[in-house]
Amino acid sequence: MILDVNGVRAGYGGTDVLHGVSFRVGEGEAVGILGANGAGKTTLMRVVSGQLSPREGTVSLGGRALRRASPSRMVRSGVVLVAEGHEVVGTLTVLENLRLGAFRFWPGKDPAGDELLEEVFDLFPILADRRHQLASLLSGGQQQMLAIGRALMARPQLLLLDEPSLGLAPIVVEEIYERLDRLRREKGLAMVLVEQSSGRATDFCDRVYVVRLGEVVAESAAAGAPLSEESLKAAYFGG
Ligand code: ATP
Repeated sequence: MILDVNGVRAGYGGTDVLHGVSFRVGEGEAVGILGANGAGKTTLMRVVSGQLSPREGTVSLGGRALRRASPSRMVRSGVVLVAEGHEVVGTLTVLENLRLGAFRFWPGKDPAGDELLEEVFDLFPILADRRHQLASLLSGGQQQMLAIGRALMARPQLLLLDEPSLGLAPIVVEEIYERLDRLRREKGLAMVLVEQSSGRATDFCDRVYVVRLGEVVAESAAAGAPLSEESLKAAYFGG
């Protein structure tokens, strides 16, 4: 197992949002975390990426439980989050944004950094074409590609993607999923995909978990064994 989240309770102030959530991600697996608005998916990604400490439960990487995880420690350990809302720094160029993601390997200073940059440009050629443009001038889909590209510059072992489809046209979503599929096939990169709607993510992922009101209420049994329509509906809407 790359990631093992076990019995995580977490929240903000005096309120718990997650009430004992457990899920796992194996080598090279794409795992979906599905659930309606407000279910706690983003909070779960904050815990896994080290931004929010669990009040109870553990997050283990490669079989070792992490004490006092921090975002920089998680990135060093190979876990990188692409946050919701394709956040890029609009006042910096595409290339500068990509350099921000270079955690250990610096393009221009380190051959491994140059190689990573070439890999990102190969995956998203539009970013190479626009490398000297301000990120604010990119379309929403291109900004999402930039956010993913920036995460790849840290050479992750596990990529966390919080609602990569949010606000994007279906054709752009298709394109992004196609590139994610390439990353999975060619690099064996493990991923956690958080999505609100089940269709695209369930098709893509090896396994999915459904979160409702801070608890995992359904999970697919194994790779290639998707949840039934009924159990998905019950998990989303209760009953
Ligand atoms: P969405 O699909 O809208 O992103 P989500 O499943 O990701 O939803 P979260 O964003 O994790 O859900 O939110 C779960 C609950 O935690 C909500 O009730 C939300 O209001 C609350 N919450 C989220 N962030 C904070 C915060 N920083 N401070 C206080 N409460 C928060």
